[in-house]
Amino acid sequence: MSGTFTTNKPGTVWFVGAGPGDPDLLTVKGRDLIARSGAILFAGSLVNEAATRWAPPGCVIADSKKMTLEQIAAWLTAQAQHHETVIRLQTGDPTLYGALIEVVQALDAVGIAVQVVPGVSSAMASAAAAVESLTLPEVTQTVILTRVEGRTPMPDGESLEELASHHTTLCIFLSITLLGRVTKSLINAGWSPNAPILVVHKASWPEKEIIIRGTISTIQHLCREEKIASQAMIIASPTLGARQWTSLVKSKLYDASFTHRFRRASVTADDTSSSPELNSATITHSTEIL
Ligand code: SAH
Repeated sequence: MSGTFTTNKPGTVWFVGAGPGDPDLLTVKGRDLIARSGAILFAGSLVNEAATRWAPPGCVIADSKKMTLEQIAAWLTAQAQHHETVIRLQTGDPTLYGALIEVVQALDAVGIAVQVVPGVSSAMASAAAAVESLTLPEVTQTVILTRVEGRTPMPDGESLEELASHHTTLCIFLSITLLGRVTKSLINAGWSPNAPILVVHKASWPEKEIIIRGTISTIQHLCREEKIASQAMIIASPTLGARQWTSLVKSKLYDASFTHRFRRASVTADDTSSSPELNSATITHSTEIL
């Protein structure tokens, strides 16, 4: 069954996060919805078509690449008259830079029910590709997801320079063609020209992913050499390269001397031989203090 109607009530439009590119990074929920959908509108330039591989026979599949917002809303509305499950398949997570609310408002206006299914954002996929952690104890505990100003103006107080002055992790979307502006803002915010910076192109895409590690002063040149001009995540963070650090402040969560909801402290602080994994013998229901 491809989600075709059994009643005359319009169907629901599901905004589904397709993940960053690797079809295996679609959520199980997203895949199950696709498998019972009657129509799918995917964001052509960004969503790997393979994400539609689970569509049932007869499912109407269209690319929104050349559509305006109004046309997208009209297409979804029309399909919802015929199908119980209509999918708007979006890159990464639909709540980030996905024009979600504009389309939802248009559907609200004509009384079409909507639901959103989260997806793996390219920010997370990029960190994973490079085996980097976006947070580290006593280094930074904050991640800022942002972009630099292009055609979309940045609201007051959100210039990259201002955000970078916190020296937290920055995941910078939609800005690879403005890399010079990114590095300048970081320098103006007091970052060292030698600070590491990571660019991941097509994170998670089978055989297409490119990981570039440089410093604020070298990254532009390195990206130019690799001809990276689209679909790239820029990550600036004081955590980058931590895999190679010899002194690391360990996370309290796995510290043997730290009690939390699922594990009571079982050893003294200096006994580091104990496994950090949850151990059934030590599971307790102590107060939640995470
Ligand atoms: N909603 C998406 C972001 C859409 S905006 C998400 O959660 O990932 C498009 C921007 O996302 C691109 O300019 C790029 O910065 C980033 N992006 C999307 N897919 C990517 C990928 N596979 N690898 C690296 N960056 C990606």
